[in-house]
Amino acid sequence: REKEDKVVAMDKHQYKDVWVYLEVGEGKLRNVGLELLGEGRKLADGMGQSLASVLIGHNVERLAQDAFAAGSDKVYLVDAAELAQYNTDSYTATLFDLISNYKPSVILMGATNDGRDFGARVACRVGTGLTADCTGLGIDEATGFVSWTRPAFGGNIMATIICPEHRPQMGTVRPSVFKKPALDYTKKGELIRVVSKIKQEDMRTKLIDMIHVCTVSCNLEEAEIIVSGGRGMCKPENFSLVEELANVLGASVGASRAAVDAGWKPALHQVGQTGKTVGPKIYFACGISGAIQHLAGMSSSDIVIAINKDPDAPIFKMADYGIVGDVLEVLPILTEEFKKI
Ligand code: FAD
Repeated sequence: REKEDKVVAMDKHQYKDVWVYLEVGEGKLRNVGLELLGEGRKLADGMGQSLASVLIGHNVERLAQDAFAAGSDKVYLVDAAELAQYNTDSYTATLFDLISNYKPSVILMGATNDGRDFGARVACRVGTGLTADCTGLGIDEATGFVSWTRPAFGGNIMATIICPEHRPQMGTVRPSVFKKPALDYTKKGELIRVVSKIKQEDMRTKLIDMIHVCTVSCNLEEAEIIVSGGRGMCKPENFSLVEELANVLGASVGASRAAVDAGWKPALHQVGQTGKTVGPKIYFACGISGAIQHLAGMSSSDIVIAINKDPDAPIFKMADYGIVGDVLEVLPILTEEFKKI
């Protein structure tokens, strides 16, 4: 109650600017941050505010150029050896300090493992709400607040949420929902270096080792090519045909929910409304009918190639190229042909 009173008494006008938290992986910005800068730019322009990025890590200053190129007006940089690896305690405390000092109006984060982990903690610590796993962003005409859209009730409705009382307005957004903006490296911005207050002893969890269970094959959100299989693969062993084509193309492997529910692929490969949202340059749909919930996760792919034995399968309505045939025969032929290139 005490906390509620404090929040209700908050002066919302003190809070300004749209922030995007930029996630770093393997020394570069993850796509989701750049995608959110594209959307953040629209929100900031619509609200008459600036767009800022938050960059946390070690030896990451050079990445600020990418943020400016993607449209960021400012970058808050917190660069320290203690922040070299993502850590729940240190990243939560760092973002909390930044919010307390600079008071943003909106914070966008990726609905990634890290974003889901510390986004909610930061929101709780600053006394605001968080709309998780959004698939749409806009500005509510009546209030001028951000409107966050996300699937609710197992994906059966799309809920639109606004945050009328608390600040900042926070949300995590699924990777690949939005396209990356074109990068323009002639753009410059303001780099604000913030000194980290984090000490090793503040971190209750210690990183002992990093074990990569997810190889290129399940990195669907960053993939340029995805080969996905559905129930039409007929049995789990046949998924090796999907994997062979993916190997030859350097692609990631996706699956429909039917294939995941059948236990043919782990859930982290699932594409769709209750799986991952992807936006590769090329998406192969192999033995997938094209149910609306599957299309919800892959319709922003640049080129869709469908293989299905049923010429009336709905997937052909949105496919750029269609092959009517048995996947078990077509996939080996495609794999052999791509090997020759
Ligand atoms: P099917 O619909 O059974 O289609 C199989 C296709 O394979 C058919 O078109 C058939 O003609 C073809 N085929 C069969 N044999 C062959 C062969 N030998 N060669 C070529 N083609 C062949 N689904 C998702 O994928 N992702 C989601 O995130 C998701 N979320 C959902 C959320 C909710 C709330 C609900 C209600 C459903 C959700 N679904 C999701 C399920 C979705 O409705 C479909 O049931 C599912 O996508 C079907 O998967 P499929 O296309 O592999 O199987």
